[in-house]
Amino acid sequence: MSPHPTLPTADLHVHLEAAISPELLRALAGRAGVVLPDGFGPTGFAWRDLTTFVRDYDVLCSVIRSEEDYAAVAFDALARAAARGAVYVDFIVSPAHGWINDIAYGALVDAVGDAIDRARREHGICGSISLTAVRAPGPLFGPENALRIVADAVAHPHRLVRGFGIAGDTRFDALSAYVPAFRAAKAAGLVTRAHCGEGEGKAGVITALRELEVDILDHATEALWDDALVEEIVRAGRLVTVCPMAHVMVGLVPTLAQHPAWAALRRGLKVALGTDDPVFFRTDIADTYEEARAHAGLDDAALVALTRNAALSGLLPATEAAELSARLAPETRDFGLGEELSRAQRALAHRVRTWSDERAASLLGTLVTLAQSRPPLEVVSAFARGCLLACFEHGIAVVPVARPTPATSPLGLLLEQCALELEADAETQDAVDARGNATALWKAAAAVRAAGRLLG
Ligand SMILES: [Zn+2]
Repeated sequence: MSPHPTLPTADLHVHLEAAISPELLRALAGRAGVVLPDGFGPTGFAWRDLTTFVRDYDVLCSVIRSEEDYAAVAFDALARAAARGAVYVDFIVSPAHGWINDIAYGALVDAVGDAIDRARREHGICGSISLTAVRAPGPLFGPENALRIVADAVAHPHRLVRGFGIAGDTRFDALSAYVPAFRAAKAAGLVTRAHCGEGEGKAGVITALRELEVDILDHATEALWDDALVEEIVRAGRLVTVCPMAHVMVGLVPTLAQHPAWAALRRGLKVALGTDDPVFFRTDIADTYEEARAHAGLDDAALVALTRNAALSGLLPATEAAELSARLAPETRDFGLGEELSRAQRALAHRVRTWSDERAASLLGTLVTLAQSRPPLEVVSAFARGCLLACFEHGIAVVPVARPTPATSPLGLLLEQCALELEADAETQDAVDARGNATALWKAAAAVRAAGRLLG
């Protein structure tokens, strides 16, 4: 796949240990005197099944032995990601794996936090930390240790520790056993997330959504085949991290093209992309975006919208999130439409609130997100589509208006101009087989004009 180094990408789902490069892993293994398994090569591990995956993961964790090792892995991963266009990575960090090597919680997050700060200074890439508890056998895992992790986070606050979640083997502990830890995490102001929709099927997603009440669903893959559940996730406004290459390699979806996330995206699902375990799935975030471009048919603007979803997930500290989000929408600032769009959003949102229609509110939110990433003509076109849908939604007549009342605001005038152009286009669609086009253009013109009037 050809890299697009200028496309700003974000990895919102990557486990820190598995973000290690094969070269660094080889160096750490050499130092520790650990022999790497057969098949380990320039792109990573050559595991074949769950048994060899778990075996190789143990090897990986056995060579990352100190907080300095964790920091080296984090800095190297951020530098490599930045070189291929990444602007933000959230690392999923398991304090229990640190405890195994006698690394105290505070030492671990301080070391990784310093590495993130250094990468920001030297490579301009943002980072953050999501703590994770792990479903696994043994004295350092399970629900009690999940509570211990939250207690550590409270006792040793760190600016970049923003999230708390659960990962691991679904055969151990019911997901609902973690409700107390998630309540404590929420009370501590952490963004919550849960691995779900893999081994337990969609039942895990339902538990994460309704019992743990998480902000972010990690994977949720099995739920994405279920239209009603997708609708529930969309309505609840939850973010889903999608790691397409991982899902194919573990057999959750047959091919990248058949991943259910692409259809769910078109139904309004809020998505951020991730690599999960790059040294096992032999991918990186740049290639993951290219996979989404190829298989979901997403263009640059839609891909950047996924990066913005990551930036605004709550996992990045607010100041950095605002800066990054602004960097991701340069077109709107360049043309001075930022304020106008905000005003339009407020005006439309007010109307929608008056109509008490959550679906339209969600639609308009999506519309504005889309509009903010596009140059002016596409802003107008996105508004047209959104307004048209909102009008249909509320049964507002969208018949052609012969004598429009001119709008007065700059965006209103722009919308009026757009409406006139759409009407001119409609006039030219007089062939019988183009009637459908003409109707669509008339309706779009009327919707754009309605939006112009809304803006006064
Ligand atoms: Zn994961």
